[in-house]
Amino acid sequence: MATRSRKSAAKAYIDPFDPAEIRRLVAEFGSPLLIIDCQRVREQYRKLHRALPGVDLHYALKPLPHPSVVETIVELGGWLDLATTGETQLVTQLGIDPARCIHTHPIKRDIDIRNALHLGVKIFVADNPDEVRKFEAYREQAELLLRVSFRSPGAVVDLSRKFGCDPEDLLDLARLARKLGITVRGLSFHVGSQAADPSKHVEAIQVCAKHMAAARREKLGVFDTLDIGGGYPIEYGQKVADIQRFCAPIRAALSKLPARLRIIAEPGRYLCGPAAIGVSSVMGRAKREGHWWYYLDDGLYGSYSGQLFDHAKYPVESLKEGGEKFPSVLAGPTCDSIDVIAENLMLPQLKAGDLIVGRAMGAYTWASASEFNFFPKATVVSVNRRPGDRGSVVPLPF
Ligand SMILES: *Cc1c(COP(=O)(O)O)cnc(C)c1O
Repeated sequence: MATRSRKSAAKAYIDPFDPAEIRRLVAEFGSPLLIIDCQRVREQYRKLHRALPGVDLHYALKPLPHPSVVETIVELGGWLDLATTGETQLVTQLGIDPARCIHTHPIKRDIDIRNALHLGVKIFVADNPDEVRKFEAYREQAELLLRVSFRSPGAVVDLSRKFGCDPEDLLDLARLARKLGITVRGLSFHVGSQAADPSKHVEAIQVCAKHMAAARREKLGVFDTLDIGGGYPIEYGQKVADIQRFCAPIRAALSKLPARLRIIAEPGRYLCGPAAIGVSSVMGRAKREGHWWYYLDDGLYGSYSGQLFDHAKYPVESLKEGGEKFPSVLAGPTCDSIDVIAENLMLPQLKAGDLIVGRAMGAYTWASASEFNFFPKATVVSVNRRPGDRGSVVPLPF
């Protein structure tokens, strides 16, 4: 019985990372492409959900703000983490229940707050007195999480330098909120993206638990919610701990908290990173100083922008297999010399039109791409939105 249902599931969803499917999608939708596999988004969500049972997963839209990913997560019962008015507009136009969203940008304009409130978002983040004061006018509708900073020099992207208050200043901030009549629901933190290990999460949970208990004793707010942020790592070239194992110490730390606390997390990269590949085509080639240079229609100003902004190095390969391999250079299309994706990459000899595939390119890639030199961003194709779906361009709703 089990075998049969697995077989039918395999037939219901195509594998868009299969070379024949990649060629078919490029033939249909052109190049460059970013192919999002919604089935892989589901698998990532389920894996993280199993690794963090009882934790409400709010997908942070920032790494891949695409309707197909957002809808897939919401259909699984997931929640959303918005940070900007643009992201708020996207979920509004998808008709998503605002009760499933929190707004987590620690620094907002009044118009951003009003836009989110207008949609129906209730929970916001603040990390300093000025920002708390902005909510005095909205104290009837809005509630706050106070963001705490835990420096994380080990993370690839340390998010606690730019945002978050010192744990020592927390109670004063909560006292200010109480004085202004603003409800504080709890605390939040983000230890940094692509965390090297779970020790920062664990330390942050323990410190937050201590401060939340103190704040409750002083009756500074409700303090029934702890937001443990994002940062869950994925594999690029190098192995990382499996998510069950990565989260084991986090689960242990959470199990010591009062049972009535609501725990939420803000995963971004983990949910969408492995779920997409970048496909580009060789536009032309040249032999320079004995090595082949291949010029692609996507590069560092496009989907590979994460190599600069996110410090990621995507595993890239040629779709063409076999034959002798030579150390080669993959360059992006723009006229800028920094626009080189990889050097000394062993590749078979390629020609114009051959396809290059970058793996694990869902997070912080297309989202930070530009159209420098007027090379258009990759077309986003989503597949497996529903069983049997063979791919479509899902337009952004604005
Ligand atoms: C970027 C961001 C996230 C997502 O982080 P990942 O490391 O991609 O999981 C979550 N929350 C906030 C506030 C962010 O800025």
